[in-house]
Amino acid sequence: MTIAPTAPPVTGGPSLPQRRELVTEIPGPRSRELHARKTAAVADGVGVTLPVYVEAAGGGILRDIDGNSLIDFGSGIAVTGVGNSAPAVVEAVSAQVAAFTHTCFTITGYEGYVAVAEKLNELTPGDFDKRTALFNSGAEAVENAVKIARHHTGRQAVVAFDHAYHGRTNLTMALTAKAMPYKSGFGPFAPEVYRAPLSYPFRDGGLSGEAAAARAISVIEKQIGAANLAAIIIEPIQGEGGFIVPAEGFLPALQRWARANDVVFIADEVQTGFARTGAFFASEHEGIEPDLIVTAKGIAGGLPLSAVTGRADIMNSAHAGGLGGTYTGNPIACAAALATIESYRSENLVERARELETLFRGRLNALRVNDRRIGDVRGRGAMMAIELVDPATGEPDAALTGRVAAAAHAAGLVLLTCGTYGNVIRFLPPLAISDELALEGLDVLRDALAAS
Ligand code: PMP
Repeated sequence: MTIAPTAPPVTGGPSLPQRRELVTEIPGPRSRELHARKTAAVADGVGVTLPVYVEAAGGGILRDIDGNSLIDFGSGIAVTGVGNSAPAVVEAVSAQVAAFTHTCFTITGYEGYVAVAEKLNELTPGDFDKRTALFNSGAEAVENAVKIARHHTGRQAVVAFDHAYHGRTNLTMALTAKAMPYKSGFGPFAPEVYRAPLSYPFRDGGLSGEAAAARAISVIEKQIGAANLAAIIIEPIQGEGGFIVPAEGFLPALQRWARANDVVFIADEVQTGFARTGAFFASEHEGIEPDLIVTAKGIAGGLPLSAVTGRADIMNSAHAGGLGGTYTGNPIACAAALATIESYRSENLVERARELETLFRGRLNALRVNDRRIGDVRGRGAMMAIELVDPATGEPDAALTGRVAAAAHAAGLVLLTCGTYGNVIRFLPPLAISDELALEGLDVLRDALAAS
């Protein structure tokens, strides 16, 4: 009997060679073959940005099944801040898998869940007494934050903002602003969700943060009435909506108004959280202490986990059994989160995000000097973006944005777009990326812009 040779185990993590290398066209033949299987097996609604199939990842590199090594400027949408298959995460997860995989925390508990709650209570802005509840996805945590705020206030209305993205479940679709692709045809949506205007410095004529907040508050008072409003929910920097950093003063003014009117102020830090913006949480940049803060993505090094953390009196208002779910706060995800959160601290990744901001901002501003199609360079930390426009009119140029992304993909750079108008290129590198690789990725971007 002959024994089939076993393939060597595929390993990612930081030991994966940190260089861009293309050995086939992108996507290569194996990826194309797998993509045909995907098309035959997976629902079309599950779209794919770049049909390259990954076999290993680490640092700033994704290696595909054709042997191509691509530079990662997406981190799986701001998830793998500590890097893919970060050794501390792999070790913690392996140990937890070997011990037990699941009990359902609301049946019989385990320390990991409690320890993650303790860490979040300690790390999130505000010195007040806090509680945390864990969930699986960002959208699920947002839903629960709204549930909690409604239960606490006894009110129903919720305000979200223009350009907001909060998820694809029914309530979060209602909170999300953009119809295509997130909402179109999927209604009816949850009631009692209202929309207020945002501060969007590049597009609102230099309106100050205070003035933009006054505009939003006026809409809220006239159209809803503070007495009916349970919560305001806002991303401190909008993610999918276009990496919009509101003018200074906008968030503090909104929070002051919410506090004065007993409205729960919810910060959706699903994309901005965990060192990404050069602070542990983006709320910190303007001294905001949200009543509730929603986290996910960067919390657990790639495992599905999310949380709502906030004032104990608000969090504790819901009755036992009102919050939870079979998998919420899964022990493996909690083990990953503890290792991940420790890595942000021990590897000084908040500082690293600031360094990456300097690197990206410098290069992007230099590109903008010679290319008036780059209307705006913005963002914080390792959450930077460029907004592409028609230089003659300032109108959004989504077609150009698509061409630049496609050219970058073909050259081995995973680059994501976003924005209500589809004209923003966003940069979300793993914080574990090296300067060399980040600069090389920015060279690919420069060439992609030049060719588009
Ligand atoms: N809120 C924000 C700000 C997000 O960026 C996202 C995901 N892009 C979500 C909520 C939804 O998170 P999930 O995809 O994990 O449900």
